[in-house]
Amino acid sequence: MEGIFDWSRILYNDLPVAFLLEVVMRSVIMFLVILLTLRASGKRGIKQLSVFELVLIIGLGSAAGDPMFYEDVGILPAITVFIVIILMYMGITRLTDRYSWFERIIEGKPVYVIQSGKILLKGLESTGLSQEEVFAELRVLNVEHLGQVRSVLVETSGNLSVLFFEDDMVRPGLPIYPDQQKISNDEKYCSCSKCGETNLSFNKTAQCPSCHGKEWFNALTTKRIR
Ligand SMILES: [Zn+2]
Repeated sequence: MEGIFDWSRILYNDLPVAFLLEVVMRSVIMFLVILLTLRASGKRGIKQLSVFELVLIIGLGSAAGDPMFYEDVGILPAITVFIVIILMYMGITRLTDRYSWFERIIEGKPVYVIQSGKILLKGLESTGLSQEEVFAELRVLNVEHLGQVRSVLVETSGNLSVLFFEDDMVRPGLPIYPDQQKISNDEKYCSCSKCGETNLSFNKTAQCPSCHGKEWFNALTTKRIR
């Protein structure tokens, strides 16, 4: 009696076992094609991808995978796809190198999300990053509060470029560790939880003059420990 699952179809789609050997050969060929194509694209390695590069990888990925194991997908059409995609990649790269307006359309542009210890809310919104995501990356860089940070630029790759204040330039700023985000009456300065605007504590019942937020935390003044 057959079970509910038709294992010969699930495992190898009722194809002759010899097809597995063909899959090995197809995979080897497509592996080499991927390798040569990525070398030809001039890319060295991959850290974080821009949207444009992601499109390239997805296009190559789906064209590469199918002919490895679909018996009715030939290798030559896949190679044609590779050639077309890589030519488009090279053409668009040439245009983005030549015209900065075109580069902005394709890659986007770097956006400041923090300047002088204050969060630029519009900039942050345009990057699609949350405040907490930015804080998490700053914590990795030993930042304790925003008063230590001169600027944060979100690159088109999604990487953050961070500049710090010199120790003697550090100012009171919004804490970015959860356990330090609290308010008490005895602190001299407090910071808006939303934008990092920092004021003398007697204002802490007021709306933030900058973003109209109403939550304040004790500002920290510690220097950055490296
Ligand atoms: Zn604010």
